[in-house]
Amino acid sequence: MEIRRVGVIGAGEMGNGIAHVFALSGYEVLLHDVSDEAVRNALALIDANLRRQVERGKIAEAEKAEALARITVAPSLAEVAAVDLVIEAAVESETVKSAIFEEMLPHLPPHAILTSNTSSISITRLASRTDRPEKFMGFHFMNPVPVMELVELVRGIATSEDTYQALVGVSEKIGKTPASSADFPGFTVNRILMPMINEAIYALYEGVGTVESIDNSMRLGANHPMGPFQLADFIGLDACLAIMNALHDGLADTKYRPCPLLAKYVEAGWLGRRTNRGFYDYRGEEPVPTR
Ligand code: NAD
Repeated sequence: MEIRRVGVIGAGEMGNGIAHVFALSGYEVLLHDVSDEAVRNALALIDANLRRQVERGKIAEAEKAEALARITVAPSLAEVAAVDLVIEAAVESETVKSAIFEEMLPHLPPHAILTSNTSSISITRLASRTDRPEKFMGFHFMNPVPVMELVELVRGIATSEDTYQALVGVSEKIGKTPASSADFPGFTVNRILMPMINEAIYALYEGVGTVESIDNSMRLGANHPMGPFQLADFIGLDACLAIMNALHDGLADTKYRPCPLLAKYVEAGWLGRRTNRGFYDYRGEEPVPTR
């Protein structure tokens, strides 16, 4: 079965990047969001990001126009369901995601594959509430989607080999490298990355070093392109805390306990780049460490 039409649900940070990448790779994209404003912003952002790719000589002007022409706004979940592949990228709420699937199911063709871009909700549980758990997978993109090479293909307990292979083919067609992951909290990347960031915050909390000395140590001593605090601010400290809580709860091991200092920054609303302050203060010309 060839996958040609893709429904993207949620036109936020991830949804706009997913729609961009699929449209540029030749897929027909139906884009749906509960918020008309989110859809308008996503279309403007996709246009601007494609323009940047043209300016950098990565794509031709005609490819940009063709990609934009392949994106159609679907005003309802019933309309976005007329596809071969659904990629759900709505807010990280199990209630919202399950309600979306429930409302779509009666309109979904029997062959269609359902996926979720969730970072922390069980794929197996989401799948179990649908009529096709064997055709359900985690399709976990990295942010920013047009830039990052990896996509995690997360197999629930019931996911079939055919579904997995179909998504390997799709991943390659959109120019990403797929990595298989079993459905346990954090999948692969966040399972390893977040405890490292959390450990850096513990090292700061215990006075092992400062934001600057720890970032320099990991950049220059471990060859990481960004220090753990730079990266945490980029990801968002609220997202880091939510993922640590999911690892802690889901794996029931104290080694995943979130650092109290991380929780304190989130309580302060110092969430990183998005709020102009996190482990660095971004309000001036240069980022200034806050500790
Ligand atoms: P976001 O807040 O930027 O966008 C979410 C969008 O979902 C919003 O536009 C909102 O209007 C829309 N929405 C809410 N309820 C809806 C509904 N019932 N139907 C349709 N649309 C609805 O969030 P995001 O960062 O794009 O995250 C989306 C998903 O991607 C989450 O599951 C998140 O865990 C996952 N994810 C995020 C990142 C990241 O770095 N931001 C990385 C990987 C995966």
